[in-house]
Amino acid sequence: MKKLFFLLVIISLAACRQSHWDEQLQSAQWIDLTHDFEASTVYWPTNVPFSHDTVFYGMTEKGYFYSSFKFSAEEHGGTHFDAPVHFGKDQKFIHEVPVEQLHGPGVVVDVTRQSSENRDYLVSVTDFENWEKTHGKIPEGAIILLNTGFGKYWEDHVKYTGTSKTGREGVEELHFPGLDPGAANWLVKNRKINAVGLDTPSIDNGQSKDFQSHRILCAAGLTMYENVANLDQLPENGAHIVALPMKIRGGSGAPLRIVAIIGK
Ligand SMILES: [Zn+2]
Repeated sequence: MKKLFFLLVIISLAACRQSHWDEQLQSAQWIDLTHDFEASTVYWPTNVPFSHDTVFYGMTEKGYFYSSFKFSAEEHGGTHFDAPVHFGKDQKFIHEVPVEQLHGPGVVVDVTRQSSENRDYLVSVTDFENWEKTHGKIPEGAIILLNTGFGKYWEDHVKYTGTSKTGREGVEELHFPGLDPGAANWLVKNRKINAVGLDTPSIDNGQSKDFQSHRILCAAGLTMYENVANLDQLPENGAHIVALPMKIRGGSGAPLRIVAIIGK
């Protein structure tokens, strides 16, 4: 009898925790941090643009409506995910990144002022130290999101990337903020984070020639998100980030659906 009583207590406690969890998620505010994918979506100047073509759209011979499309895309365009193997030999491909690494507490670092004064701005250790002065130590498993303010230029390619040119010529003219390699090194050595994302086309700034920040983060097994949307809608602290890339076997990157969950 006693055993049965304890069993009932355990079951009802589990049910209680379950409903608590559901309630929290249902009452939370969800923010989409993903840009739409379409023909005009920003891709690297040397990439083939995103394409989305109609296979069928309309009434079938049998009298019901049907639509189906096909798309093709390079891995590293639009809102996307970088796997550690992108710049790290023998590091994980997308399908190998554990789901536990695809979410974490959001640490939103506001560098909009610095980036508006300098398109080539490199986010520094000082910017992280300033965040910590206000909010405390960057938590374990954090998703660091660099809010450069460039997200608001998304519809205007030249303002967003610095160029309208494609190919090698376009690459030369890229000007947008990124992460200082010294700061990437500091994060890897001193904090235990899951990922770094930002609202520009690359973690290394537009004028980078050697992609040091990518290389440092990839070598440490970290992941990156680029062309992230709506970072200006996030609190500097307190959002939980979930970032789910398409699970391409052997992929170095992939289109990413990323959301922020803010509890009430
Ligand atoms: Zn990428």
